[in-house]
Amino acid sequence: MRTPMIAGNWKMNTTVSEAIELVREMRQGLDKIDNVDKVICPPFISLVAVGELIKGSSIKLGAQNIYFEGKGAYTGEISPLMLVDLCEFVIIGHSERRQYFNENGGIVNKKVRAALAVGLKPILCVGERLEENEAGRTKEILIEQLKASSARIYYLSGMIIAYEPVWAIGTGRAATGEQANETISLIRRNIARLYSDGLAQDMRILYGGSVTAANTTEFMKQPEIDGALVGGASLKATEFLSIVTQTSAIK
Ligand code: PEP
Repeated sequence: MRTPMIAGNWKMNTTVSEAIELVREMRQGLDKIDNVDKVICPPFISLVAVGELIKGSSIKLGAQNIYFEGKGAYTGEISPLMLVDLCEFVIIGHSERRQYFNENGGIVNKKVRAALAVGLKPILCVGERLEENEAGRTKEILIEQLKASSARIYYLSGMIIAYEPVWAIGTGRAATGEQANETISLIRRNIARLYSDGLAQDMRILYGGSVTAANTTEFMKQPEIDGALVGGASLKATEFLSIVTQTSAIK
């Protein structure tokens, strides 16, 4: 049995005081739901304050990015070692980082390796762009991304995959539940090919891309979908809580 997970990616939103306010609004409601892993991923500067606020609750913390070196002259970067005491998860390979910061498969692979090496659990994002989808290249792109991300990694302990079709992120144009289920099943089969059937069956694979309280049911009733990575809707306490509540009722 895979424990469902709803992770909120706040992206580059909220000042520290806004982050504190948002957590205060959702903390009690989220804490009551115990059959879903609830993860919030605020900006780096709010991790300490948010971590303090959720201490003793069942809410978990994630970062949105890491650098792959342990320490040194890398001005402005944050290393896995700096994060490991603060949070359990880290988003790696988000399409916005691939698109705006030129993160390719090799960089994503180094980040996944660096995270796993210190015990941080990567939420690895994969997904095809609109033109790739329209050209019928979804399968090829995903297999390529999975292979590149996992190169020279022999055990993906604790890793989570988020299937995020790029055309669905922040656009209000979500995939259908069936489309997402089918693609996630393809990802799982490929994890089984690259690793083992047991690891693929245990791995949580989320859907991400314009998930809202209104379409959560459509995704969560699909057997292959183990939860969601939520962007915009995770910035509204009542909406995020509703997504988690509905997931809890369905899964
Ligand atoms: C995301 O940022 O990972 C995401 C899925 O965003 P949104 O829910 O806003 O589409």
